[in-house]
Amino acid sequence: MSGRRKSRTRWVDIIICIFAAIGVVSTIAVSVRGIRALLDVKKVVTEAPQITEELLTVNEYSRPGKSLDEVHGIVVHYTANPGTSAENNRSYFEGLKDSHDTYASSHYIIDIDGEIIQCIPLTEQAYASNDRNYDTIAIECCHPDETGVFSKDTYDELVHLTAWLLGQYDLEIDDVIRHYDVSGKPCPKYFVDHPEKWEEFKSDVEKYIDTHGEKVRKHD
Ligand SMILES: [Zn+2]
Repeated sequence: MSGRRKSRTRWVDIIICIFAAIGVVSTIAVSVRGIRALLDVKKVVTEAPQITEELLTVNEYSRPGKSLDEVHGIVVHYTANPGTSAENNRSYFEGLKDSHDTYASSHYIIDIDGEIIQCIPLTEQAYASNDRNYDTIAIECCHPDETGVFSKDTYDELVHLTAWLLGQYDLEIDDVIRHYDVSGKPCPKYFVDHPEKWEEFKSDVEKYIDTHGEKVRKHD
């Protein structure tokens, strides 16, 4: 074999190697992008539960009309008033404009039969969660007795509502907190008395999202 031929073969080899290297590098790049895209996907519950909107009259005791600019959490409460309905509790909040008894309200109240009443628009603050009113959505839950345990209907709607809100505000499961976690108040009582049931609730919300959620790109 002549020297010229040898050197031509070497050049061909080098060119083949360069193309092969480009191929390997671009394959890796595509795979990394693919893996990243997979990691960026999360599930979101797009279907809201059925909600009856009965907004309170704007007043300084229960619907101050202050804007809720950013939502960083969802706070779960119980009414601490066994056997009362969502409608009863909504009427109590509405009545504060005349009674001036206290400052209290909630974005949502879930009845023992599962009906969800919305009292405050999501663009406004509720008076529910002390120094987290400015950046959280409040959910009050009715309960049949002194233990504060929720009925199955209340629980199921709370799971759905929470799952939907997490998607609406691009929040994570640990952004769901008890009133107790804000102020130390024993609310919602059953989930304060039974912390393992609180963890179970959060895992039920995650399961709901996994089962009923649609895949979306993170932060889209
Ligand atoms: Zn509370």
